[in-house]
Amino acid sequence: MNLPNTSQKRIVIIGGGFGGISLAKKLKNLDVQVVLIDRHNYHTFQPLLYQVSTSGLEPDSIAYPIRKVLKRLKNFHFRLASVEKINPDTKEIKTNIGELTYDYLVLATGTKTNFFGNANIEKHAMPMKTVPQALNIRSLMLQNFEKADDSESDEERKALLTFCIVGAGPTGVELAGAFAELKRNVFPKDYRHLNVDEMEIHLFEGGPRILGPMSEHASEKSNQFLKRLGVKVHLNTIVADYDGDLLTKANGETLKTKNLIWAAGVTGASIAGFENTKLVERLNRYKVNLFNQLEGCSDVFAIGDIAYMETENFPNGHPQVAQPAIQQGEHLAKNLNLIFQEKPMKPFTYFDKGTLATIGRNRAVADLGKLKFSGFFAWFIWMFVHLMALVGFRNKMIVFFNWAYNYINYDKAARLIVRPFKQKT
Ligand SMILES: Cc1cc2nc3c(=O)[nH]c(=O)nc-3n(C[C@H](O)[C@H](O)[C@H](O)COP(=O)(O)OP(=O)(O)OC[C@H]3O[C@@H](n4cnc5c(N)ncnc54)[C@H](O)[C@@H]3O)c2cc1C
Repeated sequence: MNLPNTSQKRIVIIGGGFGGISLAKKLKNLDVQVVLIDRHNYHTFQPLLYQVSTSGLEPDSIAYPIRKVLKRLKNFHFRLASVEKINPDTKEIKTNIGELTYDYLVLATGTKTNFFGNANIEKHAMPMKTVPQALNIRSLMLQNFEKADDSESDEERKALLTFCIVGAGPTGVELAGAFAELKRNVFPKDYRHLNVDEMEIHLFEGGPRILGPMSEHASEKSNQFLKRLGVKVHLNTIVADYDGDLLTKANGETLKTKNLIWAAGVTGASIAGFENTKLVERLNRYKVNLFNQLEGCSDVFAIGDIAYMETENFPNGHPQVAQPAIQQGEHLAKNLNLIFQEKPMKPFTYFDKGTLATIGRNRAVADLGKLKFSGFFAWFIWMFVHLMALVGFRNKMIVFFNWAYNYINYDKAARLIVRPFKQKT
């Protein structure tokens, strides 16, 4: 892989997400060679992917080149590659562009969409985990609106204008709110000869309430907000099948739709090599101790979504959101420093800063410790927090100006089919 030979120890980080980047940034004072591998050459700000899917933001504003984020790091090497296998005995990593060895390995590979083994849904539904997938949803939505505008069949038009989202966690709820804003404020101006009222937005949730991980207050309020926006919320409803035309619920009921977005769950993006002893099977996450070390491997660490750390306060592992990944990345950097100073490592403790979710314009719900509130103030905090969390000054500015423009003009300007989406047959 054309990495320079050096007497320095080599730390290999797999994954340039929230965890991998926050760790690498903090390694700048360590006399080591750092190699970061990711299958994308950019870091993705996943919390705003839904705005790319719904034409609110351009993809460039939520993605940032990894080489640029880490340009100040000495002895840093980035490799654009997909890691295929790890051999912990020989400390070898096999990628699609070659092989390398490590002294210390950090797994920060996050998660991938979980289709729960349903091959039909995997083939026909739209996942939203990456920038290309978010762009696919944007293209599909706009292509289907174009088709609906020239369709002479009521039945076909209804299916083209029916948008179904499966999974009412923050992603599903935010997406449903954004579709509803498009229906209310944007599409009636674009498609003046189409009855945009025909557009239906359905949100399916297998559990008894939406925003399950948040408080009852957040669930209730967001449900009210969605209903006010015209979203049809189906609780206790399992979507069992989808063939590209027909959605089938577990109770046998069906609905014709050409748009099904799958936001029902994730599973760890694990890599072959550790499955026998170190993977929590049901979740596909690596079991780690309080120092983020994989059980039985003193030189292999896992951080972020892929790591499963049981603590007193989090007996089922930390939530798979950005903060644990960022905090674990920063903490591991300190522990690696301690290792090189031959001092004992310190255990990780998670500081929960709270959860926010937005539902269209001016509305959000917030659980910040004991404070639970909703409405305009929560929405303002949501915007501020997301703007500050974005990587790169340029991205913060672009997102800020886009939001201001969209807010003033009731618009979502990125309504472009740049790369048409081809449905699988
Ligand atoms: C649509 C969506 C909305 C979200 N909204 C929120 C939110 O509002 N708030 C919040 O806190 N969290 C949110 N999350 C969750 C949050 O994004 C994750 O918890 C966070 O990204 C985890 O960070 P990570 O570093 O563990 O993994 P990630 O950020 O997912 O990074 C993993 C990286 O590893 C790379 N990778 C994976 N496998 C390989 C391989 N084999 N070879 C090479 N590279 C590989 C990937 O390309 C990726 O860059 C959302 C997630 C999604 C998908």
